Amino acid sequence: MTAALKQLSSEHDWCSALNDLGVLRQHEPMAAHTTLAVGGPARWFFRPADRASLVAAMQACPADVVILPLGRGSNMLVPDTGFDGFVVDLSDLNDISFDCYTVSADAGARMSRVARQCAEHGLTGCEFMATVPGDIGGGVAMNAGCFAQQLSDVLSAVTVVLRDGSVIDMAAADLNMCYRHADLPTGSMVVAATFTLQTDHPEEIRERMRTMRSRRSSTQPLAQPNCGSVFKNPDGDHAARLIEAAGMKGFSIGGARISNQHANFIVNAGEASSADVVALIRRAQAAVKQHSGIELEPEVRMVGEWEYIMAGDADA
Ligand SMILES: Cc1cc2nc3c(=O)[nH]c(=O)nc-3n(C[C@H](O)[C@H](O)[C@H](O)COP(=O)(O)OP(=O)(O)OC[C@H]3O[C@@H](n4cnc5c(N)ncnc54)[C@H](O)[C@@H]3O)c2cc1C
Repeated sequence: MTAALKQLSSEHDWCSALNDLGVLRQHEPMAAHTTLAVGGPARWFFRPADRASLVAAMQACPADVVILPLGRGSNMLVPDTGFDGFVVDLSDLNDISFDCYTVSADAGARMSRVARQCAEHGLTGCEFMATVPGDIGGGVAMNAGCFAQQLSDVLSAVTVVLRDGSVIDMAAADLNMCYRHADLPTGSMVVAATFTLQTDHPEEIRERMRTMRSRRSSTQPLAQPNCGSVFKNPDGDHAARLIEAAGMKGFSIGGARISNQHANFIVNAGEASSADVVALIRRAQAAVKQHSGIELEPEVRMVGEWEYIMAGDADA
């Protein structure tokens, strides 16, 4: 048997094993799984039925295949050429349970759903999550936050599946969480998180969530595909202010445009490609650097291979 045939047959073996563990697709368009609605196909796309299936899949998947955990895809930019690895969609792992002051949520539970249920149980601390359109796993990985709160303020522990399929519990303190960052073990994924909260009246909690939601909808371009804040705010300043000051508000490349409503948002105004979005990111970075000397760092996670596109000139 030739080397190529051997590779095909071993791929056939491990892929067949996965068919009983959830939904497996090949060449799945990632534009359908990211809120910016751009991105080419994932080589393998797998949605495990439950945690045991995920563990078995991690063990079956060859060690040299790159794994990409996927939540809601609300902070993810995938190249037009796609992702040459194994995307794991955790949306079917979405249980939420309460025990006194703590809530435990699986990685695939929407943050907004967790926030709503916390309000029903009279537990406060998660209100900000009602306005962040991601899942618990993505929220932990990004240390999502807004309205002067972030996930690490209330997170007490996580359960993580390592690349070899072993499952470990970690204290939140071990993740060294800071602004939009958490140290997770390489190749691992969060499968559940536990939050420690305080009590309050459900109606007061709901009122705070309503206020946050309405502030969002009046300041952000929520009607068009986007990925939230494209850049992290530099110390003591706001990326949106810097981009606007550099004259980039409303600027577009192809189908990607810097929002007229909020300059730290890039919207897909129609047929944007990932290349359009990246070109716009680089153009905004160059303009801000020239105008104020500050280097903006992307908050959006650019996953996969970008070298071919990043090699170009920012002014091209
Ligand atoms: C309209 C809009 C508003 C937004 N507002 C905010 C905001 O106020 N504050 C804020 O912080 N963010 C905001 N975001 C960005 C985004 O919602 C958050 O970063 C969110 O936490 C991402 O969650 P997700 O499930 O979509 O993650 P994804 O986009 O799917 O993934 C993001 C990263 O996390 C990794 N990841 C996902 N799941 C796991 C897992 N289970 N284990 C390990 N790694 C994982 C992915 O591999 C990727 O690197 C906004 C986005 C949009 C579209």
